[in-house]
Amino acid sequence: MWTAAIVHQDPPFHVCFPSDRMLAAWRAIERKSILLPDYTIRESTRAKHVRFKVSLADGLVIVIPAGFDHTRIPELLEEKQAWLLRSLREVERLRASMPSPDLQPLQIELPSVGQIWQLDWVETDNACISIREVDGFRLQISGPVENPAAWRAALKRWLIERGKDVLIPWTKDLSRDLDVPIQRVGIRCQKTRWGSYSSKGTVSLNAQLLLLPRELVRYVLIHEICHAVHANHSSQFWRLVRQWEPEADAYRSQLRTASQYVPNWLRSNY
Ligand SMILES: [Zn+2]
Repeated sequence: MWTAAIVHQDPPFHVCFPSDRMLAAWRAIERKSILLPDYTIRESTRAKHVRFKVSLADGLVIVIPAGFDHTRIPELLEEKQAWLLRSLREVERLRASMPSPDLQPLQIELPSVGQIWQLDWVETDNACISIREVDGFRLQISGPVENPAAWRAALKRWLIERGKDVLIPWTKDLSRDLDVPIQRVGIRCQKTRWGSYSSKGTVSLNAQLLLLPRELVRYVLIHEICHAVHANHSSQFWRLVRQWEPEADAYRSQLRTASQYVPNWLRSNY
């Protein structure tokens, strides 16, 4: 029997790195005790059924249709126990093999543009982290570099700036090639989406696209631009996407596991 549930009802979707408490909970399951793992509930207006997802970045996520009765979740989890155990064990194995998100990276690879940036870390008395691009693809990071939250935030800002330099002109060029006008391109560092399109004509892109292979990024840009013609995922929409990118179906499925390209330090929320 499973009795204790720790529920994070926290829409908009909140993702967390598996916590120590979560790991302890998983071990408790393995010993067949009565704990449930920590989990995040995400209510989705599009979901028709309850779905369970386990990933390194997000831990256990339960996607429920809007209005679904939360009290039924422990019972569903119990039914899924064998699958959960397998998946959580696999995630824990992966986590153990990955560098800590607090470990300062020595390089950042941006396959989308064929760049590898080398990082130099300099501890100074300054209150803030500053990042300077020096000769070619070198970054000098100075300030309180022993503070992971501070340098992670600074590197995310740097990535967003790189994203603006690269992704905005790339999208505009493609929009011209496709002869599909868009109003604006915005760059953010998001957890859950690679890109989106708003009815006002704005393509929003995730700066982390820079970490992906070039062809996947191109696919995402084409996908979002095509939403300016079809604001849905209808068969006409996919026909248009395939017209511009014949490999669209393959890239679409590769994108499902593309978070593997995102380094550990960038996944961390803290
Ligand atoms: Zn879409």
